[in-house]
Amino acid sequence: MSPSELNTDVPHSARIYDHLLGGKDNFEADRDAAAFITADWPHLAISMRANRNYMARQARFIAAELGIRQFLDIGAGLPTAPNLHEVVQEVAPESRVMYVDNDPIVLVHARALLTSAPGGHTAYLDADLHDPAAILASTEFRQTFDLSQPVALSLIAILQFVVDDDRAHHIIDTLMAPLPPGSVLAMSTVTADSAPDEVNKGVAAYVARGINEKARNLAECQDLFRGLDLIDPGVVLVNHWRPDATARAVPDEHVHMYGGVALKR
Ligand code: SAH
Repeated sequence: MSPSELNTDVPHSARIYDHLLGGKDNFEADRDAAAFITADWPHLAISMRANRNYMARQARFIAAELGIRQFLDIGAGLPTAPNLHEVVQEVAPESRVMYVDNDPIVLVHARALLTSAPGGHTAYLDADLHDPAAILASTEFRQTFDLSQPVALSLIAILQFVVDDDRAHHIIDTLMAPLPPGSVLAMSTVTADSAPDEVNKGVAAYVARGINEKARNLAECQDLFRGLDLIDPGVVLVNHWRPDATARAVPDEHVHMYGGVALKR
C-alpha cells in the first residue's frame, strides 16, 4: 500500500462499520460520518450486529452442514471477533479462507485475519469487487483453492455498494463460474423493506458523505441468486436465517439486511 491510499480525511464504509460495532480502527472523518448517518438511520448499528451474527451462523452452517472447507470472503471488513476463519476452523481446522477487501486500513490490520489454525490456511488480497477477474487471477486465489472441491463465495454486507444491478450480476456470475457444483453463494445486502423511511433516509446520508449505496427489495435480492438453488429458508431478513436466541431477540424493524445461501448445481 502506498501511504497516499490511506486517506483518513475521507470516511470509508469499513471504518464506519467498525466504529458502529464498537471497534477502534477508525478516524474522525469516519466517526463524523457515522454520527451524520445514524441521525437518520438510528438502528443501523443493531442491523449491522444482526448481520455480523448472521455471517457467523451461515458460515458455521456451510462448514458443519454442507461440509464445505474453502471460503472466499469478499468485503471481509476489519477484524471483529469472531472472524469467518475462526468460525469455520472451529468446525474443521483444515478449512482454507481467502479474504478480500479494498480498504487500505483493512489491509493494515489483515495480520489479525491471518491467524489460521494449524493444518488450515488463510490468505488476504487487497482487491476491488468490481474487478472479479483480478481476484480469480491472483496468486492468493490459486494458492488457497482446490477447484475440484466446492467453495463458498461469501459476499456479506458488500453488494449494497455495487449499485448497478447488471454489474452485481456480472460480478456474481464471474466469481461463481470457476467454482465446481456443490459450491455456494452466501450473501447479505441492505434492504429498506423492514423500515422504508429510516433506511431510505440513511442510504441518502451515506451517498451525501460520498459512499454510493443502494437498498434492494426482496425480489431484487432474490434475483441476485438467479441460476442457483436457494437453501431453506431462502432470502429472509438476516435475523430470520436459521436464528439462534440472539437473532430471535432482534425486532424486524431494526434489521435492514436480507440474507441467503444458495447452491450451485
Ligand atoms: N463482511 C463483513 C464486513 C462488511 S462492511 C461483515 O459483514 O461483517 C463492508 C466491507 O466491504 C468493508 O470492509 C469495505 O471496505 C468493503 N468493500 C466495500 N466496497 C468494496 C469493493 N468494491 N471491493 C472490495 N471491498 C469492498
